[in-house]
Amino acid sequence: MNACSLCPRKCGADRTHGAHGYCGAGATPRLFRWGPHFGEEPPLVENGGSGCVFFSRCTMKCLYCQNSPWSWRGEGVDKAVPELAEILRELAVKDGCANWNLVSPTPYLPFIREAAATLRKDGVKLPFVWNSSGYERVETLEEYRELCDWALFDLRYANDASAVRASGAPGYVAAARAAVKWAAENAKPIVRILVLPGLADEAIENLAWLATEVSNEIPVSVMAQYTPAYKALETPPFNRTVSREEYESVTEAAADFGFENGWIQDYAAADPKLAFLGENMTDGHGSVS
Ligand code: SF4
Repeated sequence: MNACSLCPRKCGADRTHGAHGYCGAGATPRLFRWGPHFGEEPPLVENGGSGCVFFSRCTMKCLYCQNSPWSWRGEGVDKAVPELAEILRELAVKDGCANWNLVSPTPYLPFIREAAATLRKDGVKLPFVWNSSGYERVETLEEYRELCDWALFDLRYANDASAVRASGAPGYVAAARAAVKWAAENAKPIVRILVLPGLADEAIENLAWLATEVSNEIPVSVMAQYTPAYKALETPPFNRTVSREEYESVTEAAADFGFENGWIQDYAAADPKLAFLGENMTDGHGSVS
């Protein structure tokens, strides 16, 4: 990490000598919240829930981020590797979680690897879920493949201009598609299609790409739950939920392209009253709801 290139930004920050990267990450893992989560896709929550660890900072800068207190503003607590190992141990042994669900882990992969190695020596091991926006480098996935038993990756945009505008993520489309292809060949993949207001066409384009370039047998999770938050509150069209018409255009496309494995949220999930808002979650250990 003396010239960090873990994510597609390859910002080159010398994180070993006090610098913080574009994402905000420095020389110590920083966490906001950890605990069992029962709201993930069904295979991830069987037997004790998914042991989520929400890492502070993020390689994306989504104007609609529901986790802005820690993703944008870096709230949370620095944890040295032995403390991170104890958190993972707690999720496995005390909470009885089914897996370690690493939410936006990319800036901290070397530390997570070190923590996991300590636990392995003690016989503590769970499958890892690499829970990501999809903005990843294949080289990094290869390097840290033991942290990716499950790949829970988004395909958020099909147009780079949208990715730059809404998430400040240049090169997103090629990066996320390459990551999904890698996941299909090397892990148990779940591809999340979060339908964004005004961008339903891009969700459909991604489903078409998946069906033709990967397989329509890959599990997909089509989500209606987008809720305006943070900077999206004043940025049309991101300041509204997804319309029923938009959402149904995507679910119909999923059926037309022959996707049969996975999950399609009911449109009722677009109700802001039901939304999970990370902004309301406190830090530290606790269940995630
Ligand atoms: S993970 Fe963070 S520090 Fe590393 S290249 Fe990406 S933005 Fe820069």
